[in-house]
Amino acid sequence: MEKITWVCANCGRRFGNYLPSVATWHEDICDICGRKIAVTESRDFGGIIRETFTKQDYKYLLSEVTKSLDSIAGVDKEMTDYHKGLIKKIEAKLSKLGI
Ligand SMILES: [Zn+2]
Repeated sequence: MEKITWVCANCGRRFGNYLPSVATWHEDICDICGRKIAVTESRDFGGIIRETFTKQDYKYLLSEVTKSLDSIAGVDKEMTDYHKGLIKKIEAKLSKLGI
């Protein structure tokens, strides 16, 4: 995985050390889940506790991306395709882990 700079709220909650008291959010790509969403710097979460993902982590990512896809499906074709691409990538990683 590449360096984790930008992190969304849900990924920060799962992978960060603590929740930020102050953070400046902007829309960008979350370096963990890959969604285009409100993100802030990983250091706002006290850094990211692990960058190697377990099966449970990938299942979390899959459910997050699927939820986002459900909320935009049929509204924005480009973002729908983008999310479908993310899901394929996550599923490929899960199948490598033997699921
Ligand atoms: Zn994220």
